[in-house]
Amino acid sequence: MTRKPLIAGNWKMNTTLPEALALVGAMKERLVAIPGVEAVLCPPFISLSALAGVLKGFPIGLGAQNMYFQEKGAYTGEVSPLMLRGLCQYVILGHSERRHYFGEADELINKKLKAALAWGLKPILCVGERLEEKEKGQAEAVVERQLRGALVGAADPGGLVVAYEPVWAIGTGRAATPADAQAIMGLIRRLLAQLYGNDKAQALRLLYGGSVTKENVAPFLKEQDIDGALVGGASLKAEDFLGIVEQASAIRSR
Ligand code: PEP
Repeated sequence: MTRKPLIAGNWKMNTTLPEALALVGAMKERLVAIPGVEAVLCPPFISLSALAGVLKGFPIGLGAQNMYFQEKGAYTGEVSPLMLRGLCQYVILGHSERRHYFGEADELINKKLKAALAWGLKPILCVGERLEEKEKGQAEAVVERQLRGALVGAADPGGLVVAYEPVWAIGTGRAATPADAQAIMGLIRRLLAQLYGNDKAQALRLLYGGSVTKENVAPFLKEQDIDGALVGGASLKAEDFLGIVEQASAIRSR
């Protein structure tokens, strides 16, 4: 089974519109010249429309960092799948910062995920344990709960991508070891096989996220169940992000 490697950049709450345009301008020609890798940029909402314009005709994906599950209505401050459809192909859901700072629980993430699929958006579902959970030996149980919780009632996972992001590794400079990440991501694929059958599970892409850099990404990409990376900090510098995509091309694209 060949899965096209995917490198997604989560810009979080960084970049004004001019900065977002400059960052994409510094990367787009070089990104499209790197063969065999799907690159996806996830800027803040306010830049999605402009970036969709400048990336027209470029095979570079766009993703939102969040969305609400309703189509429209009295939900001040929220952005709906109807609004995102046509602007971007992906949407990050269940990021640990949404879970932690905004109180998002599995039940809400499940509603968002089902709405994303219903509107033809590909969810990048983030799962991962906190440090205290890891220290208590609960990483597998937490990831299983989050994964199953997000997928309740999602009969067809569509273009689902699952990102394993141990919370203690995000933005800390302390990445998981590739072997530890593989162990959890092998579990994720086995759980997906239970839910959707082996063929579908083998086709879905799993990303590692947490302090990925162009210096440390290579051994992750050599692991059997790691099909790419969800990159935070290093996605904000053109050279760093390009370096990660180049490594994915060298290691995973055939
Ligand atoms: C993230 O926010 O999804 C992330 C993985 O961040 P960082 O790469 O900065 O650890």
